Amino acid sequence: MQVTTINVKSSDNNTYVLIQDNQSIVIDPSCTDGRIQHTLSGTQLKAILLTHGHYDHFLGLNALHRLYPNAPIYCNHNDWDFVSGDAMIFSSQHLMDISYISQQSLNDIDSGHYTFGNFNVETFSMPGHSKGSVIYEIDHQLFTGDVLFKDSIGRCDLVGGSDKAMQQSLRLFKQFNDDTIVYPGHGSATTIGNERRYNPWLIHLIGR
Ligand SMILES: [Zn+2]
Ligand SMILES: [Zn+2]
Repeated sequence: MQVTTINVKSSDNNTYVLIQDNQSIVIDPSCTDGRIQHTLSGTQLKAILLTHGHYDHFLGLNALHRLYPNAPIYCNHNDWDFVSGDAMIFSSQHLMDISYISQQSLNDIDSGHYTFGNFNVETFSMPGHSKGSVIYEIDHQLFTGDVLFKDSIGRCDLVGGSDKAMQQSLRLFKQFNDDTIVYPGHGSATTIGNERRYNPWLIHLIGR
């Protein structure tokens, strides 16, 4: 499986394009300048996966949905109101041209196993940053959204956030091997081993 990281400089958001046997998956289409479409060209897009419902993670969703109307869009139902614009999380949101999408176009995803074309996706519900935050394990690689970053974690003070839920979610990272690659929603990629040793929020929970 080939993983392409597309970074939006202004917000340091990462979009991930996964390609395997001419089939593809997009995780968090935050990029709006055509790089996602360019990376996807010649592949069959099997699914668009959101790690959670914050707008900076789906600014490119509408454009992608128009181009690939048959590719199902997945997001945990607890964050649907953010994606459809029925919930306002940041005041600056009113000033921005957000790429909202109707809830009829969304599919729910929760902890469990999913198959999209040739891709096997294990999903883990990890509330704390938002109620509907999930992470995806695909081919022994983790796509962690705003739950886990290199040397940091997502904030818990936004609507739907919870420090307590975040602590419980972070404990779930214990089940992954140290060499598991972590692709976060913002910033550089890392490994579970690195985070277990150096991430101040993980050290006391699952450190060694
Ligand atoms: Zn977020
Ligand atoms: Zn974010």
